[in-house]
Amino acid sequence: MAYTVPKLKDFSPAALDKAAEKLLAALDKEAAEVKTESDWKIFRDRWLARKNGILTQVNGGWLKAAPRDAKREVGLRVNELKGRVETTVGLTVRKGEPARDIAKAKQWLGDEVAEGNRLDITLPGVRRALGAEHPVIKTMNEMVGVFRNLGYSVQEGPEIETDYYNFESLNFPPNHPARDMQDTLFIANQESKLLRERLLLRTHTSPVQIRTMEEMKPPIRIVIPGKVHRNDPPDASHSPMFHQIEGLAVDTNITFGDLKGTLDHAMKAFFGSSVKTSFRPSFFPFTEPSAEMMVSCFICGGSGRRGSEPCRPCKQTGWIEILGCGMVDPNVFEFVKENGYDSRKVSGFAFGMGPDRIALLKYGVDDLQLFFQNDVRFLRQFA
Ligand SMILES: [Zn+2]
Repeated sequence: MAYTVPKLKDFSPAALDKAAEKLLAALDKEAAEVKTESDWKIFRDRWLARKNGILTQVNGGWLKAAPRDAKREVGLRVNELKGRVETTVGLTVRKGEPARDIAKAKQWLGDEVAEGNRLDITLPGVRRALGAEHPVIKTMNEMVGVFRNLGYSVQEGPEIETDYYNFESLNFPPNHPARDMQDTLFIANQESKLLRERLLLRTHTSPVQIRTMEEMKPPIRIVIPGKVHRNDPPDASHSPMFHQIEGLAVDTNITFGDLKGTLDHAMKAFFGSSVKTSFRPSFFPFTEPSAEMMVSCFICGGSGRRGSEPCRPCKQTGWIEILGCGMVDPNVFEFVKENGYDSRKVSGFAFGMGPDRIALLKYGVDDLQLFFQNDVRFLRQFA
């Protein structure tokens, strides 16, 4: 026998509870019998239709018929029943598929209600999950924070750059291999332009150094986070798009000692006070002298081993290469000489590092692609 809404004579709390119990038992029983989408629609209409649905009958037969002094008790129960019925109807099968959670059920229910040109503003909204920082952005923000605390300001610049800012003003000779199509992504059809005006996707954040020096007179201390692009096929340690953080300090009497002291402090602030730093000579077109800085491996503590296993991140050397740096080449200052950067009066140092790789090491991830595939199951672990 299908459930019908009884007319109530006794409005005492006990009698009301009993009636509500019967109604809910019928609801659960009918919900369990829903198998297909058309079953579900019939079930939904039987319980929720405005005209003569079971909830409407409960409203009329119970709430409106109740004596004045019982209205409050009846109202409370009717509201509760309404919530239960709406949730159950939403939770039950739709298109042959059970709703996975209440939010989905409510969304389905909301869709159905909206289709019927009726919006039930008493239904709770669908809560939007708050996002979290991406592990690479988190790493960048932490590193930038270290330099901000040292008094550096943050600068940004365009990702589409001219050859002039990306290469020429940074002392790259015209035949430098980095200018080759194999390494750099150029914008097409610019053959008629002068080389220095041709557009490309910046291969490093260094153009922002020149752009900033054109606008700000010395002394400056800036840190530049951003995306850069190179013609590299994606693999576990390469990506055609990746990130850099770059820094520049220019003032009178800046020496290599300032560079070492600043970077040593920054690495200790970022990786922990026990890390050691070490420098070895290197080459970059825009710095002279240039160096690569290593930090003692923060995974194995510099021992090269993790228990009986070799430490892979530092290749058992106990050291990890972390950034490139050097004293700004006087040739670079020539391009911004008019703005007060006279290499006889000022000197400076610059450094650049890859936060993607730092994030890989920090979080023990072995494939760079995971950071850029936007799989929420992966990213959620770092939230
Ligand atoms: Zn190690």
